[in-house]
Amino acid sequence: MATFGSGHRNGPHFTIDLHLHTSRGSSDSNVSPQQVIERAREIGISAVCITEHDHIWDVQEVMDLAAQAGVVLLRGMEVTTEIGHVGAFGLDRYVGGIYRLKELRRVADECGGLLIANHPFRYKLDPKLTFFNNHDEPFDANDVNTAAEQMVFSMVDAVEVLNGCCSEEENRFALQVARALGLAEVGGSDSHSVDSVGCVCTVLDAPALTERALIDAIKARRSRAGRGLLEDGNIVLFGAAA
Ligand SMILES: [Zn+2]
Ligand SMILES: [Zn+2]
Repeated sequence: MATFGSGHRNGPHFTIDLHLHTSRGSSDSNVSPQQVIERAREIGISAVCITEHDHIWDVQEVMDLAAQAGVVLLRGMEVTTEIGHVGAFGLDRYVGGIYRLKELRRVADECGGLLIANHPFRYKLDPKLTFFNNHDEPFDANDVNTAAEQMVFSMVDAVEVLNGCCSEEENRFALQVARALGLAEVGGSDSHSVDSVGCVCTVLDAPALTERALIDAIKARRSRAGRGLLEDGNIVLFGAAA
């Protein structure tokens, strides 16, 4: 049986990196699954989720790998949809048609799954970066309400408010939108290389050792985003009252 938190530097928190790519399933990643697991042990994070682009690992393969390493390893998928990247948990395979968010929601509901708006404002606030996305106009960083009206937020259970590859401004804005809507908050490194595994994470107040437990905890809004594991090990919650 795998134990959680190999380094036990997380204090009372259960820390989990909810967003990771490996070279096995994501051609833009240069980190192998074994490297992710070794790094997870090294930094003392409680669990890691491998979330490839439009691909989900075989459950037995994940269980074998995790058992060998003594690390809690869970599976998700980052689905490319018509409105952007959506984190999906609970699905067992890629199902045709889920590039449409409405269909993805239907499939997720059928299996009690969880959907997350991943990095919803990446490149969408700074006018200089809007060529990276298909919005002609950037969002106004002072207008949370208009941004919150985007369709994606009515279709997901949670918002990735802390993404390791987003700017601080993009993350803060996502947090404001999540709070305006009362959606669950999660964090993930979006690592494509080994050094950034665990740079930000999702923080739970109790262990989530299975995909089901993780989904339930986030749906019950018992998750927060946090960081600090790679610095002194002290977790700082993102958006905590000072
Ligand atoms: Zn993405
Ligand atoms: Zn990603």
